[in-house]
Amino acid sequence: MPTQSNLYDVIVVGSGASGGWAAKRLSEAGLKVALLEAGRPQSDKNFSEHTPPFALKYRNQAPEIVRKLRPVQSVFDVCNEYTQNWFVNDFDEPYTTPSDKPFLWMGRLRMTGGRTNVWGRVSLRYSDFDFKAASRDGYGEDWPLAYKDVEPYYDLVEKYVGICGSAEGLEHLPDGQFQPPMPLTCQEAVFANRVKAKLGRPVIPTRSANLTKPINGRGPCHFCGPCERGCITHSYFNAAFTTVADALATGKCTLISNAMAYKVLTDSAKNRATGILYIDRNTRQPHEVHARAVILCAQTQESTRILLNSATPQYSNGLANSSGVLGHYITAHIRSGGGTGEFPGLVTKHTISSPRKPVGIYIPRFRNLKNDPPYKKFLRGYGYEIESGIDFNFEAPGFGEAYKKAVREPRASLDVTGFGEMLPRWDNFLELDPQKKDIFGIPVLKIHFSDAENERAMIQDMGASAGEMLEAAGAKNIKTYAHPSAPRWALHEAGAARMGADPKKSVLNQFQQTHDIKNLFVMDASGFTSNPCQNPTLTIMSLAVRSCDYLMGEMKSNSL
Ligand SMILES: Cc1cc2nc3c(=O)[nH]c(=O)nc-3n(C[C@H](O)[C@H](O)[C@H](O)COP(=O)(O)OP(=O)(O)OC[C@H]3O[C@@H](n4cnc5c(N)ncnc54)[C@H](O)[C@@H]3O)c2cc1C
Ligand code: SF4
Repeated sequence: MPTQSNLYDVIVVGSGASGGWAAKRLSEAGLKVALLEAGRPQSDKNFSEHTPPFALKYRNQAPEIVRKLRPVQSVFDVCNEYTQNWFVNDFDEPYTTPSDKPFLWMGRLRMTGGRTNVWGRVSLRYSDFDFKAASRDGYGEDWPLAYKDVEPYYDLVEKYVGICGSAEGLEHLPDGQFQPPMPLTCQEAVFANRVKAKLGRPVIPTRSANLTKPINGRGPCHFCGPCERGCITHSYFNAAFTTVADALATGKCTLISNAMAYKVLTDSAKNRATGILYIDRNTRQPHEVHARAVILCAQTQESTRILLNSATPQYSNGLANSSGVLGHYITAHIRSGGGTGEFPGLVTKHTISSPRKPVGIYIPRFRNLKNDPPYKKFLRGYGYEIESGIDFNFEAPGFGEAYKKAVREPRASLDVTGFGEMLPRWDNFLELDPQKKDIFGIPVLKIHFSDAENERAMIQDMGASAGEMLEAAGAKNIKTYAHPSAPRWALHEAGAARMGADPKKSVLNQFQQTHDIKNLFVMDASGFTSNPCQNPTLTIMSLAVRSCDYLMGEMKSNSL
């Protein structure tokens, strides 16, 4: 078996949000890094944000063609005719679920940059309101860290990533190092002003990883719209052309693409991780790569899968799993409640190539806030992401001249989507499916995932409150939805190798270092002790940088 022995200080598995930052931080400090990535290299040549649909073979109008190989990935429309090859083939890399608990594991990228190629870019801080929620309402565990520990890393990451937004002075949604916010559209401004006036809820410009000012050779956004297809001006944050590019520019980091990590290699006698065994995607041959420390950044489910597949006689139920907690408490945001409404008269003309602002507005959490009495229906809370659009009236009735006229009547609308916190529960868990392997011969995950009463009540509230706010804003043709029993799907998974102060109840310490094996770290969202309603990636990146600084300190003092 080909081996690259003692070549590297650190192996980082995964080149997405967390892995990109780990590779950058460590290699810029002079460490030799091997960056293992299961997917192909990404390049500006693959970006198609300016390619019109008519230039494509199926005009991006044949979802059934995309569904053939990616029935799960294409449920979310960012996997489409433009981008389908960036995603896993669902048949080559399957997973299973119990028949009564369907779970749609979408957003499985196989390119340098991982999910940051297609993410929605909403970038929000957590606060002690989140980190210490258990102390306040009695459910679950507090995080083993506080806001003051992460704050300097939020600052550092935000300045580099480039996040547009506005300072609002909200205690539960701390302000950050913002670039100027994007201006609001007419219907956004009307909605924000009326909801604030009538219901007292702040509605703010979304804090988003889209540039409004140039930084580090990246240009400001020019409002072309489909960021999920790439960006030749590098105006949104994608690890492929930011953190990973910086890491490679140091000359200290080697990107090993098409490298599907199978397991962490260990020296049982010394209780140490020694490297990674991976399968080459193209040749299907196994390879070993060795280093002084190993960091998993493959995304929550994938990193947990690697640890479960790395079981040894000493750790028979998964590596670094003396607590037995590995795989349990997985959470993901709930998103099945919201609404839409129209704002007639706010727009007079629309063209196919009108500018498209890629950033909307946001309603921060308003339930169960610090000085309010506890909301009776559920614990914790949710926020809303709101996108506005102007479109032709494709649903106009009739035919002939009358239809042609009616269809050109532009419609200004708002989509209001709730993003809610899910409570971590032991019975939501990941395990290996003993019956099934992927095309590389690696055992796959069986995902046990379902909502409980708290989530169902929150989804109902999301739908009802969306209607209330659209009403208050004077919207017409309001439609709301709340689907508490819809098949579970998610993009913000977290918590399957939770952090904690007590090694008996957690897998990682506050620096995302496994309690059991000192030179093994997991720096994606696996460690999240809870999954607050704000989008997770800004916190994923900030904690990864913090944990890398700790790792380097430990290396310097020869503690690793
Ligand atoms: C459509 C969409 C919209 C989103 N919108 C937002 C948003 O608005 N705000 C927000 O905060 N978050 C958003 N997210 C989530 C965000 O993208 C993730 O939280 C973030 O990218 C996770 O970072 P990560 O480093 O854990 O994993 P990723 O960024 O997914 O990177 C993991 C990498 O590991 C690689 N990998 C996996 N398994 C292996 C293996 N065995 N061996 C080697 N490599 C492996 C993958 O190929 C991938 O490149 C969105 C996600 C999607 C899909
Ligand atoms: S909308 Fe802005 S960030 Fe998105 S692809 Fe276009 S220029 Fe890039």
